[in-house]
Amino acid sequence: MSLKNKPVQEVTFSLANLRKVDFKSGQSFHSKGFLPFRDLPRLVDEIQQKDPEFDVIQKGVYWEILTWADEQANQMQEYRFSIHLSFAYPLECQRCLNNYEEEMQFTSQFLLQDTEEAVENFPLEIDHEDALLNSHQFDLIELFEDEVLLSLPLIPKHRIEQCRPEIILAPGIVNQSDSSPIAIEPISSAENPFLGLKKLKFDA
Ligand SMILES: [Zn+2]
Repeated sequence: MSLKNKPVQEVTFSLANLRKVDFKSGQSFHSKGFLPFRDLPRLVDEIQQKDPEFDVIQKGVYWEILTWADEQANQMQEYRFSIHLSFAYPLECQRCLNNYEEEMQFTSQFLLQDTEEAVENFPLEIDHEDALLNSHQFDLIELFEDEVLLSLPLIPKHRIEQCRPEIILAPGIVNQSDSSPIAIEPISSAENPFLGLKKLKFDA
């Protein structure tokens, strides 16, 4: 990261201005703030469908952004920014089916490209940053929403010590730990293509 030449400017964004950030100005700036879930439309829809009681005004996403330009060997500049997000997101534990809040925080880095083509051709093997299309009116709210949704676990689960699965038993049935059914089933050769291959080989 190089911040030489241009000073980093502290900036404050209104909610409306977060939807049209001028990255093309090339200015190096730093900004941070808090957005209630209410102001993140795609998240608030998700949350309220699952838990209408959840407080979407007091709870939300703490965000921080830093932008800078990297000087290239060919005198060109690459314009980058990184965002740090931290939040607690309401989820349903898939082990005990109770609601809980997953606390998350992460930093993502982006390289701003001038054409759609350059964004599409950005090498997939680069995993420390992603490419985005540069714009005079970049929508940071949309990016925050994308990043939050992408970070959520596919199968949300409590930490094991906080998880309280309730064992529901039919009346009259005693829970006997030594009578648990066997979960692993043998694989028949019809289901396992590799077994068939092996047999062919030995027959030959
Ligand atoms: Zn749980």
